[in-house]
Amino acid sequence: MDRSLDQLASEALARAGIEPFPAIDIEKLAYRLGISSIASDEHLVEDGRLVSEGRQRGIVVRKDASKARRRFTIAHELGHLVLIESGSEAVAQRLGPPVDDVERMCDDFAAAILMPFEWVSSCFAHRPQNLSTIRHLAHQTGTSLSASAVRLTEVLGWRVALLRWRLEGGRWRFMAGAALPFWLHGQVRSAPETNDSLHAIFQRTTRDTRTKVPFRVGNETVTVDAQVSLSSTSALVLLDLARSQSQLASAMRVGREPRQRRPVSK
Ligand SMILES: [Zn+2]
Repeated sequence: MDRSLDQLASEALARAGIEPFPAIDIEKLAYRLGISSIASDEHLVEDGRLVSEGRQRGIVVRKDASKARRRFTIAHELGHLVLIESGSEAVAQRLGPPVDDVERMCDDFAAAILMPFEWVSSCFAHRPQNLSTIRHLAHQTGTSLSASAVRLTEVLGWRVALLRWRLEGGRWRFMAGAALPFWLHGQVRSAPETNDSLHAIFQRTTRDTRTKVPFRVGNETVTVDAQVSLSSTSALVLLDLARSQSQLASAMRVGREPRQRRPVSK
């Protein structure tokens, strides 16, 4: 992630007179940065929106957002505000990057506001790379487990990815991955074996446990060591990419290559 967003975030907190120690009072920050209203809207399709009301600006958040999602969304919209004011968004748009880049910048800004770089570095550098540390960061900062996992990879260089499954109608369904390397985006899903495996782990324990989990990467099924935590409705699987990256990468390659035509080696 671009460290200049950490810089922008720390300047925004300083300008608002808010100490960079979580949990950050995000609504107070918004009002101090000049937002005139924060409203909820049940009809909003997106998570949130920065709106202009005459010369004033407000933030609208989707009504059914969880508390963590709402906090992150407000921080994200403040990212748009700060980028517009600093001229960065205008510059970004003139240079013509995809809209996604601005959205990603605002997500990074939100993470930098809610989980300040220096604070994360000093308080989490010596903690083990596991689910318990991710939960601890999420709890202290009022953010989601996904956002916390991503932030630990950015600030401390953790090499992990967090996968989530949900139990729906008796079957474990893959929901999403956080902190996945770009080459795994959209490539992870359940394998036929995943369902039985997660059911079996749930029968055994609901505590954090190290075990093997099978799932699909591209067109291949892989079984990797992971730290796993199951409740009656959700499963968290923390991959140690330092250990499993080559296995995942080779599954991706096998899945992608046409079998009858081997690539020419250089
Ligand atoms: Zn946005």
